[in-house]
Amino acid sequence: MKVLGIESTAHTLGLGIVSDEEILANQKDMFEPEEGGIHPRKAAEHHYQHAMELLHNVEQEADMEINELDGIAFAQGPGIPQCLDIGAVIARTLSDKHGIPMVGINHCLAHISIGIRTTDAEDPTTLYLSGGNSQILDLRSGRYRIVGETLDIALGNALDKLGRKMGYPHPGGPELEQLAEETEEIVELSYPIKGMDLSFSGLVTETQRKIGDVDDELLANSFQEHAYAAVVEALERAMAQEGSEEALLTGGVAMNSRLREMVEKMCEQRGAEAYVPPPEYCMDNGVMIAEQGRLEMKAGRETKLEDSEKRPNWRPDEVDVEW
Ligand code: AMP
Ligand code: MG
Repeated sequence: MKVLGIESTAHTLGLGIVSDEEILANQKDMFEPEEGGIHPRKAAEHHYQHAMELLHNVEQEADMEINELDGIAFAQGPGIPQCLDIGAVIARTLSDKHGIPMVGINHCLAHISIGIRTTDAEDPTTLYLSGGNSQILDLRSGRYRIVGETLDIALGNALDKLGRKMGYPHPGGPELEQLAEETEEIVELSYPIKGMDLSFSGLVTETQRKIGDVDDELLANSFQEHAYAAVVEALERAMAQEGSEEALLTGGVAMNSRLREMVEKMCEQRGAEAYVPPPEYCMDNGVMIAEQGRLEMKAGRETKLEDSEKRPNWRPDEVDVEW
């Protein structure tokens, strides 16, 4: 079975094709704001401007044509409404033109499925940290339960906000990582954990107030140490509660080497395994949507045109795991 996946939940327009045997194509183009964060309309404009080009590129890379596909998967949510519309329109158009069934995919679940496909993880507790989402997910009686999550903004968003306030370009995560590598010291900040839930906006404000009084390197390192220690503590609690022997770290923030180190160390101490997908599959991408589509279509799922409306607030625990 060959499936095309279309990702357009936020800044990335990604198109990918997978078969049962291999990953056949992975094309993407990221909206990069000149200033500020992600402007919904501008990101959506970026996506429709690049749609035809990426479609052409995936066909070339996979050496096949769209009409040879068995399914078309698109990220139906959660995400920025204006951006979700673009992916849904591409999917409906291709599906109708070529008579190929389509399936609307939950973006968070796709991160887990591509993680399982590209690593040795089988039944992991997932720590998913991105620009728009921060969740700990665990498969329990047929659904991925959200056992912990941020109560306000996502960790990636927090890093980007702080980076911007400090005068660095978007995205802030990699900029702060580089700064943090320059020092081992930290200043004390509040610790953003509430049980297995997290909260980052207060930590951003607190750190932001110290800009100018404390060196950027020290601020970046302090923010990282506090925020990452908290997410790893929440992950450890979730694993202990579940008796889980595998952790899967994914989302754009999983690119951070200090965070990976902390997750790996925690797992080692528990006798558990830590898995991180290759970088191109941690960041948002079309391949993960294709993979989730492949799994769901094999299980007999299909989304009809009348059910293909975007779902900006779609939570992963609303989906029955039948694959
Ligand atoms: P995503 O939404 O999953 O595509 O991930 C984008 C987010 O990942 C942005 O908020 C980035 O700041 C963050 N990010 C990317 N690379 C790193 C890094 N090396 N360290 C921390 N955060 C990162
Ligand atoms: Mg994501």
